[in-house]
Amino acid sequence: MKPRIVRTVAALRRETMAWRINNLKYAVVPTMGALHNGHLTLVSEGLKRADRVIATIFVNPKQFAANEDLSRYPRDEDGDIRKLAKAGTHLIFAPPPEEVYKPGFCTTVSLAGPAKAGLEDKFRPQFFDGVTTIVSKLFIQTGADFAMFGEKDYQQLKVVTRMAKDLDLPIEVVGVPTIREPDGLAMSSRNRYLSATERKQATAIYQALSLAADKIRAGIDPQTASRSATRALTTQGFKVDYVTARHAETLAVPEERHDPLRLIAAAWLGKTRLIDNIAV
Ligand code: AMP
Repeated sequence: MKPRIVRTVAALRRETMAWRINNLKYAVVPTMGALHNGHLTLVSEGLKRADRVIATIFVNPKQFAANEDLSRYPRDEDGDIRKLAKAGTHLIFAPPPEEVYKPGFCTTVSLAGPAKAGLEDKFRPQFFDGVTTIVSKLFIQTGADFAMFGEKDYQQLKVVTRMAKDLDLPIEVVGVPTIREPDGLAMSSRNRYLSATERKQATAIYQALSLAADKIRAGIDPQTASRSATRALTTQGFKVDYVTARHAETLAVPEERHDPLRLIAAAWLGKTRLIDNIAV
C-alpha cells in the first residue's frame, strides 16, 4: 500500500482526526530521512503496538551548528518513500522548513537533566534544544499514542522520554534496540560519509565498547575500562570525543557499584562523527 504523503500540519491533522474518530491507535517515527534498516525497524516495532504508523522526514536545521553537516546531510526522499511503503507505513509527514518554522518562530523547548549530562550536549551545545523543540512539535502535531526512538541515539532517547513526562504529553516513548551491520557497526545515515577504508575501521567502536563491557562485567572499574577503550580507539586513528560508563537511566556518573550501566561513545573517523552505546 502506498502511504499518503502530507506536507502541512493541517493535512496531517485531517488524516489523524479520521483515525481518532475510528478509535485507531497510532505511532510516530521521527526521522531525518536517508533511511536504513534501523529506521525501518522503528516502523515495524510501531506496527506491533499501533494500528497506524506515521513516519516523519525532516532534516531539522535547529539541531545543527553552523559548522556542522546540515547542507551535506544525505537526502533521498524518493528512496525513503519507497522504503517506508515497503515497511508498511501508513502516512508520511515531510514538511518543508517554512511549514515547521513559520516567520517569527521564537519558542525553544529546553531540558536540564539527561540533556546536560556532559555527553552529546558538551560537544554539540545546540543539539538537544533543537531536538526537543522539533520533537515536542511533532508530538503535538501528530497527537500520536506512541513515539518510536532508537537506542542508537541513547542520550536523545532519555531526553525525549524525560521531556514527554515533564510536559505531560500523552504519548508513550518506546526505545528500540540498535540495528547493526553484520560486522557490528551501528547503522547510521552518516555511515555513507565513510570511505571504504574508514568503513572497515569503523567497526572498532563497537568492538571497543564490547570489550569494555566485558571487562566491567569481570569486575574492572567502569572508568578504567572506558579509558582503555578510548586509548584503543585513539591508537586506531579515531579522535575520541568521549567513551564513558553512565547510569543507564539518568545518564549521571554512576555512584553505586550496582547501578545499571550504559557504555556510551562518540568519536571522529576522518570527517565523520560516529556515536554508539551498549548495555553493560
Ligand atoms: P535520524 O534520522 O538519524 O535522526 O534517526 C531517526 C531515528 O532512528 C532515531 O530515533 C534514531 O535513534 C533511530 N535510529 C537511527 N539509527 C538506528 C539504528 N541503527 N538502530 C535503531 N534505531 C536507529
